[in-house]
Order: sequence, then structure tokens, then C-alpha cells
Amino acid sequence: MTGEGSAGERDILVVGGGLAGLACAAALGARGWTVTLLESRNRLGGRASSFRDAQTGEWLDNCQHVSLGCCTNFTRFCQMVGIADLFHREDELIFIGPEGTRHVFAASSFPAPLHLAPAFARLSYLSWSDRWHLSRGLRALAGTPSERLEGLPFDRWLADQHQPPRVIELFWHVVLVSALSETVDRLDAAHARKVFVDAFLTHRAGWEVWLPTVPLERLYGGELLGWLAGHGVAVRLNAGVRTLARGQEGVQVTLRDGTTCRASRVVLAVPSHLVPDLAPELAPRWSAVEGPGQIETAPISSVHLWYDREITPDRHVTFVGQTSQWLFNRERIQGRPVGPEESAAGGGEERSSSGWYGQVVISASHHAAARPAQETIDTVAGELARLLPGARSARLLRARMVTEHRAVIAVLPGADRHRPGVRTDVPGLYLAGDWVQTGWPSTMEGAVRSGWLAAEAVLEDAGTGERLLAEDLPVSRLSKWLLRL
Ligand SMILES: Cc1cc2nc3c(=O)[nH]c(=O)nc-3n(C[C@H](O)[C@H](O)[C@H](O)COP(=O)(O)OP(=O)(O)OC[C@H]3O[C@@H](n4cnc5c(N)ncnc54)[C@H](O)[C@@H]3O)c2cc1C
Repeated sequence: MTGEGSAGERDILVVGGGLAGLACAAALGARGWTVTLLESRNRLGGRASSFRDAQTGEWLDNCQHVSLGCCTNFTRFCQMVGIADLFHREDELIFIGPEGTRHVFAASSFPAPLHLAPAFARLSYLSWSDRWHLSRGLRALAGTPSERLEGLPFDRWLADQHQPPRVIELFWHVVLVSALSETVDRLDAAHARKVFVDAFLTHRAGWEVWLPTVPLERLYGGELLGWLAGHGVAVRLNAGVRTLARGQEGVQVTLRDGTTCRASRVVLAVPSHLVPDLAPELAPRWSAVEGPGQIETAPISSVHLWYDREITPDRHVTFVGQTSQWLFNRERIQGRPVGPEESAAGGGEERSSSGWYGQVVISASHHAAARPAQETIDTVAGELARLLPGARSARLLRARMVTEHRAVIAVLPGADRHRPGVRTDVPGLYLAGDWVQTGWPSTMEGAVRSGWLAAEAVLEDAGTGERLLAEDLPVSRLSKWLLRL
């Protein structure tokens, strides 16, 4: 980037320090480019970030962020920048059925796609007939090519497959609302298929959950800053961009403080709704179909809870058929001592200071976001007391709810046609973000993919094309044979 004179051929400016911008900056910095990353806030991480709790001064994540084994680009990014060791890999999930029964969901020794079959078969809150319908449904979904599902509402596909309402409510909905933050009636069936194929049916490790063991602030802030500085990336925080425009040599950038600079290439990696104001020259290209103005978003809420004691010894719990969807035991995930007297049944000794801290996540929280926060907190606390023995005797010390109204883009039927690619009509200007065309829903994996796709386009235009995207997990031989994947 230059303030005066001509912009350097291998200078690049990345606007936005979320995972898309970070992945793009890291990839180009590692290839010898001089990268300047402009972030409007005083920290990196974008939607995957933390805030300071006023009472304890601790960093709390805006919401628990999890990744899956099938997110190969996110994993590679973490390995590349040296933060992969700061995740815990869960090889079992704890499901609490509607009546409070605890199920451990873990892979058997069978190869994919049969590795999870015994775990599905043990979900006793579904009848044997329900489980039979479920296995038929999974097989039919895998066997339907994506192209035939694109644009189809997933509830219509489920009805066509005669999936019983209880299976829809207690299985399909539970998995999809967590993965895509949308309800089955609002989901594109092709995206629903992708979740099941990538996570459950292709490879043994696809479904494993990766949990960060440190606050996101440290993961994408403190830990990353050193790596970026050592790889040619200059990070400028509190450097909001006001506009981008086509310049004589590259792209002219005006910051909110009025200063201007030029770069031969700029990657705009901000959320979709901000793009039209930041880069008005792009607007004419975006017709009524393609473009960020057409992209809808979905909310995710997190309820942060402090109890006077630990309410479950599990690191995480998935609730079936409740308002609360996931509970994350932050003390255990972060490896903090919870007291020696913790019993296997949960419920430990009374804790001093701020108490035991956990987080309940509610995806697709349209309903929760529209009513007073206290009502949702009361519902969540009531569910925990009903479903977790350890919560019954525990005292809720305090709670707060945080809702991100534009948490992710909504993968509504046909919504993918609104997502533009990384190239634009303005020479030298590229797009990145979890909302561009990546083939993935709006996730950390989607964001990293977009950043690397933008970096691939930059490298290609500079004459040094290189593939940056990681391969997907390999499809097991049995999945190829049984499911034709
Ligand atoms: C509550 C919640 C829970 C989620 N849970 C998960 C999960 O469990 N797993 C998962 O994979 N994904 C999850 N996601 C989605 C994931 O966080 C996003 O898909 C991903 O972080 C998006 O990254 P991004 O870089 O595309 O966008 P962003 O993170 O939005 O980054 C854009 C950046 O641009 C900056 N910016 C904006 N305007 C300007 C400007 N004018 N000048 C300079 N900078 C600017 C912003 O401050 C921000 O840092 C969740 C999201 C939310 C909100």
C-alpha cells in the first residue's frame, strides 16, 4: 500500500480482520507479498471474537464457535498460523433426549458411512420405526445429487420421503439448526445434504467437533498477531475504511479518518450488508439477482450463565427438542480447575469468586431475539434444572444473553444464486467473506475458503497462480460403493 506514488505490484490491502481477511492476508504474506490489513474495530476475529465481562474482567466469547473435522481449510489455516494446538477434538457428543436421557454419541470401529450407525441406533428417544425411517432418509439424501436438491425447501423433501414428524423434530431439525442456523422449512435441501454427507457419511473424522480451549480473543488476536507480523502482514486496528473507488493506478481507499491510500490490489473482506456503501461502483454490476443486497441473514443467541457450582461434568451437551441447543462447559473446555470434589453425576462443590461459567447456544434464534432477554434466560435455566441433575441444586448467580442478529447468512432455498464470486468488475478489487460463493454455508470454514479463493485470484492475476484450497476429507471406499459418493 502507498500513500503517494505508484502502488507496488506485490502490495495488497485487505479490508476486514475476520477469518476471511485473516486467511487471505496470511496466505499472501506467507508468499512474500506486502500485506496491510485494515480492521475497523480494535481487535481481530470479526464475528468470531470476544468481549470483556464487566464484572470479572475476563474475555468471554460472543458465542461458542466450533469447527468440524470436515472443515479442512479452517484446520489447515489453524495449522499454518500455529493455533491448531489450542483446540480440543471431541470424539464423542453427549445428547440429552427430550425426557432427560443421556446418550453418548461416538463412532464405532466400522468404516464410514457405517461408523455412526450403532450410535444412531442407540438414540432411544426415537422409536425403532423412527430410526428405520431415519436411516432410509439419510441414504436417500446421500443418493440424491445436489443439483436436484438446489432451490428445494428441505421440509418438502422430508415430506416427499415420508419422514415422520418426530424424526424431523428430534433429528433433522436438531442437527441442521445447529449446523446452518435455519429451520428445515427455510433451508435449501442441497445445503442440508452437504451437512450430512460431509460430516456423517464420507469420512470417520468428518463429524468430530473442534472446541477452542482459549477465548477467541486470544486465538485470533494475541496468538495470530505475532505470526502475521513475522510474515509480512502489517495489521492496522481502528482503521475503518469509508470508501473504495477505482483509481488511476489500482484502487483508491479512503479511511474514516479522511486519509487516503492506494493499492494495486484490494481484497474487501467485510460482511455482505456493508459492501454496497463501501464500494458503490460495484452496485451496477449486481442485478436484482446476484449481490449482497439480496442476501438474508439469521440470528444466533448465546446465554452466558454463572452458577455457584458446576452443573455438569461434560464439556458440552446437545439438547434435543428444547430452546437450549448446546451447553458448553467453558471451565472444562478451557481446562480450568473445577474443584476436586466433582462427581461423575455432575454438581461440584460451591465455587467462590465468579462461580462456574457456561454458555448455552441458540441458533436460528428469531423467536428468542424478538422477546425480552430475561424470558429466554428463564426458559434456559428452567430447561437446565429439568434436564441436568447437577443444575437442580445449583444457584444461578447471574446470566446475560447476547444476540448477533446478522450472525450468518441464511441458506434459504435458492439463496446461493445471490452470492457473488471473489472477482469484481473493478480491476484490482476482490471480495472475500463467508457470504461469497464458496459452496459452503456461512461458517469459519466458509470464511477461510473465501479468503483463500480471493488470494488464489490475486496470485493468478499476478501471474503466479497456485491452488491454496485444501482437499476435502477423502471419501471412504465403502461410502463410494454403498452411497455412490
Ligand atoms: C453468534 C455466532 C456464532 C457462530 N458460531 C459458529 C460456529 O460455531 N462455527 C462456525 O464455523 N461459524 C460460526 N459462526 C459464523 C462465523 O463466525 C462466521 O462465518 C465467520 O467468522 C465470518 O468471517 P468473515 O471474515 O467472513 O466475516 P466477519 O467475521 O464479519 O469479519 C469482517 C470484518 O470486517 C471488519 N469491518 C467491517 N467494516 C469495516 C470497514 N469499513 N473497514 C475495515 N474493517 C471493517 C469487521 O469489524 C470484521 O472484523 C458464528 C457466528 C456468530 C455471529
